[in-house]
Amino acid sequence: MSIVKNILNIKKKINDTQLIVVTKKQSLDNIEKAYSSGERNFGENRVNELIVKKALLPNNIKWHMIGHLQTNKVRSIASFIHLIHSVDRLKLLNEINKCGKLENRIINCLIQVKIAEENTKHGFSEKESIELLNSNYKEKYPYVNIKGVMGMATLTNNTNIIESEFKRLKRIYDHTKQMKILSMGMSNDYQIACKAGSNMIRIGSAIFK
Ligand SMILES: *Cc1c(COP(=O)(O)O)cnc(C)c1O
Repeated sequence: MSIVKNILNIKKKINDTQLIVVTKKQSLDNIEKAYSSGERNFGENRVNELIVKKALLPNNIKWHMIGHLQTNKVRSIASFIHLIHSVDRLKLLNEINKCGKLENRIINCLIQVKIAEENTKHGFSEKESIELLNSNYKEKYPYVNIKGVMGMATLTNNTNIIESEFKRLKRIYDHTKQMKILSMGMSNDYQIACKAGSNMIRIGSAIFK
C-alpha cells in the first residue's frame, strides 16, 4: 500500500479527528508524499531532526513537537513550533514561557499526562495535571497557551487497559476548563482513542509502513 492510500484509509475511520503525521526517521521523499496528499500537520520527537526537516520542506507545514523535550532545546523551536504536545514538567513549562517571551510569541502547549502503568512514559500524574490546570498558570506563564492534554496508553494488546487509560485522560480533559485539544491515539490504538473522545491522533508507522 502507498503512503497516500494509508492516509486515506486512516482518515475514513476517524471522522473529524485531526491527524498529525509523525515523520520521525522518515525520508524527505516519504514526507513529501504525505504533504502532496494534503497533510500539513507533521510531528517529530527530536528537535535536531525537526529543524533539519523544517529547513528542507515547504514552510506552510505546521510542526508539532511530540517527544521528550530538553530545556536547552526549547529556544531553537520557540519561534515557529505550532504545538508542543510533550510538556511533562514545570521546569519545561517555565523554559517555554521564557523562550516565548524572548520571541514575543505565545507558544501553544499540551500537558502530557502519564496515563500508562509503565514507568518509562513521561508526564505529570493525574493529580499534578489537574492541580496545574486549575491553578493560576496563565499569570505565571503568560507566554504559554495550554490548549489541552496529551497521553500515551500502555503498549499492550489488552484493549480494555488501553480503553480505560484513554477514558481517564478524557475525564481530565473534561474536568478542566477551556481545553480544546485531546491528543491521544497512535498507530496501534487510534481507533480506541477516537471512540474515547480523542480529537487529535499522532500516526507514524500505520502511514509509513
Ligand atoms: C512515534 C510516536 C508516535 C507515533 O507512533 P506510531 O506507533 O508510529 O504511530 C506518536 N506519539 C509519540 C509521542 C511518538 O513518539
